[in-house]
Formats: sequence, C-alpha cells, structure tokens
Amino acid sequence: MTTVGDVVEVLETAYPPELAESWDAVGLVCGDPAEPVSRILVCVDPVESTVDEALELDAELIVAHHPLLLRGVHGVPASTPKGGIVHRLVRGGAALFCAHTNADAADPGVSDALAEALGLTVVGPLAPNPDGRTGIGRIAELPAAEPFEKFVARVAAALPATAGGVRAAGAPDRPIRTVAVSGGAGDGYLEAATRAGVDAFVTADLRHHPASEHLAAPEVPALVDVAHWASERPWCEQVAAILRDVLGGNVDITVSNRCTDPWRFSG
Ligand SMILES: [Zn+2]
Repeated sequence: MTTVGDVVEVLETAYPPELAESWDAVGLVCGDPAEPVSRILVCVDPVESTVDEALELDAELIVAHHPLLLRGVHGVPASTPKGGIVHRLVRGGAALFCAHTNADAADPGVSDALAEALGLTVVGPLAPNPDGRTGIGRIAELPAAEPFEKFVARVAAALPATAGGVRAAGAPDRPIRTVAVSGGAGDGYLEAATRAGVDAFVTADLRHHPASEHLAAPEVPALVDVAHWASERPWCEQVAAILRDVLGGNVDITVSNRCTDPWRFSG
C-alpha cells in the first residue's frame, strides 16, 4: 500500500523543500500522510476546475505547482474561495501537495521541463545556487541556430495554446542558438539573461516597463513571453514521470487536462 506520506517523501526527494524561497509555502497543504493513495492528479494550479477533475477521478492526492495558501491564513471558512477548496478536498478525501520555488530550483525542475518541451539541451542554471547545479531558470541550446521568427513558432507549437498566445520582441531574422528559459514570472531574471549572453529569453508575465527598458539596451537577448500556466505545464509531465518511476504500477498518475490559464479569450 502506498500512502500520502510515501508520495510526499518521493516528491520532497525530487524537490527538496530547503530549495524553496524563504517567502514560499510548499509541502502538504491538507491531507493525512497515513492515508492510502491509488490515484494522483498532477496540475499547475490548485483551483476549482482541477479539484473537480481530481474528485471526478477519485484521486486521493493532488500534486500542484502553485501554493493554495501563500500568505498568512487565520481560518479556512467554506464561504471563501480558498477555504471552500480546502473543504472540498477534505470532504472528498483528497490531499494537496505543492512544490513551488523548490520545484523551480531543483535539478531537474520546472525550467528543465520547459527547455525539454522546446527541444533545447540544458547547459546549467540561469541564477545558480552556490552548488552550481540548482537554481532558478536554465541556460540551454538549440541543436543548430534558427531565425528568431522560426524559434517563436517552435515555442508556440511546443506549448499548449492559450488566449494570450506567444509574444515576441526582437528582429525576426536574428539567429537564435543559446536560450535562457524561466518557467513562470521572469521579470526578475532579465538582467541574468543579459549577463548570460544568450540570444533569446523565454519566460512569462513580462511587463511593459521592464521589457521596454531591457530592449533599449544594446546586445540584449530577444524576448519571448508566453502564458504563465503554459510555461509551467511541461513540469506536470516531469512530476508524473518521477512518480511513475518510483511508485511503479501501484498508483495511477494523471496529468490534468484542464487549462487553468485565467485568460479565456482574446478580442
Ligand atoms: Zn508559477
């Protein structure tokens, strides 16, 4: 019999909690480590639609990237959106585990999954920890240089479609061979990508001023901005592979098929 606690142990070996940022909240959010698990759902966001999916599947555990409860919480009344989710999970017999910045920093982690989905070979972390192996973002390479326009089409084809699509800033014919990637919001790593001397930087949630100021400087990476959810979705397959590898045939592992990008359509 596999328990919630057994799965947590596998996940905390792959994504050590000590790699999480100090402000983060990772680990088991609700659920009993002693309870048995036969089905697991892996998703980016622990929200109503993925909780629906988990309960429809009779999953006893949801593994999510984003924390459900990040800031100080003084109660979980079912009349609030997050308290309602906690109640549904507990009543439905499903535990929730989150691996957030620890999954970003781990090797392999969120950005390795993104790089792999894009057909890139990882060279090392973009913002390395002192061990030189873990850290946020990755520097990676294409097998051969290709024009930026073609690279952007590659990104769009590799990631799930979203309302916001893929936005690009840079000359369409610029040759791209080295690429920095950072799953999730990557504003904070624009300078690291420039210092790395890469041809392009793929990330999410780039804002007007940081992007515009970055592009005004000479010899900076071209920018590719994708939906936050889409940039982290490849990580779900990585988690599923790690769990299948360790837990074998004892547990059914499903990657969520729900799009939890908050943007639903474009005008
Ligand atoms: Zn994220």
